Amino acid sequence: MSESTRPVALVTGGSRGIGRHVVTRLAAAGHDVALCYQSDADAAAEVAELAAESGAAVLVRQVDVAERAEVDRFVKDTEKELGPVESAVACAGIVKDNPMALLKDEDWSRVLRVNLDGTYNLCKSVLFPMIKRKRGSVVTLSSVAGVHGNATQANYSASKAGIIGLTKALAKEVGRYGIRVNAVAPGFIETDMLSGLSEQALAASTAAVPLGRLGRPEEVADLVEFLVSDRASYLTCQVLQLDGGLVL
Ligand code: NAD
Repeated sequence: MSESTRPVALVTGGSRGIGRHVVTRLAAAGHDVALCYQSDADAAAEVAELAAESGAAVLVRQVDVAERAEVDRFVKDTEKELGPVESAVACAGIVKDNPMALLKDEDWSRVLRVNLDGTYNLCKSVLFPMIKRKRGSVVTLSSVAGVHGNATQANYSASKAGIIGLTKALAKEVGRYGIRVNAVAPGFIETDMLSGLSEQALAASTAAVPLGRLGRPEEVADLVEFLVSDRASYLTCQVLQLDGGLVL
């Protein structure tokens, strides 16, 4: 195990977008960090290098969060190499948008598997060690689509609404062990996830935001860092919408 006394944070989907900024933000705030990614090893290595520049010990793994055993192995490797996981952030997520009439069954299933099962898999794997230590913090990534529902995103909206239910139920179960569980529900954040949107759709989305712009992944990372920190020590079972005032 590492000699470091820094608290350990574990982040799924840390190779790009929001997860990338969560990893570097947590490293800058004094955490050692474990991150996983789906396919882009070079991007993950670059994020690891940035985190290490802040003095963090870093562990990187390729993991499919939809696979329970892979997530469990990732958590166990992290505990062995970096130490007990204090904070877990479930950032990994995908979209496969289509009006429901055109939605393929496999796109319904895969989005549920990665987004909802992936979040469950992470929570399940970190839970017992956190309960044993009577401390820990979990942050899940929902979405305004999970709060309000969004056309062409029945699969994504269902997965993100499911994450809200999971988050609130778990928070109620584990509060007595000193474990806090909160969800962040971002609006439109400038990452690769939005790359499937046409220019027109992007302009319309931006116009629906009272603050008049897309959110930045750094802004989500700031909120996540706050949520896992002791500054949020009385905050649990919440869904924090970070959306510039957007109402879908
Ligand atoms: P992104 O597409 O830029 O990054 C997704 C990350 O998830 C990548 O690191 C990728 O490797 C990882 N990933 C995907 N499938 C995986 C799998 N099966 N196993 C392991 N890792 C996997 O997306 P983003 O915009 O950074 O989104 C991060 C989270 O925030 C997601 O859960 C997303 O649903 C949520 N969110 C994003 C927005 C937005 O506008 N960008 C809005 C609301 C919620």
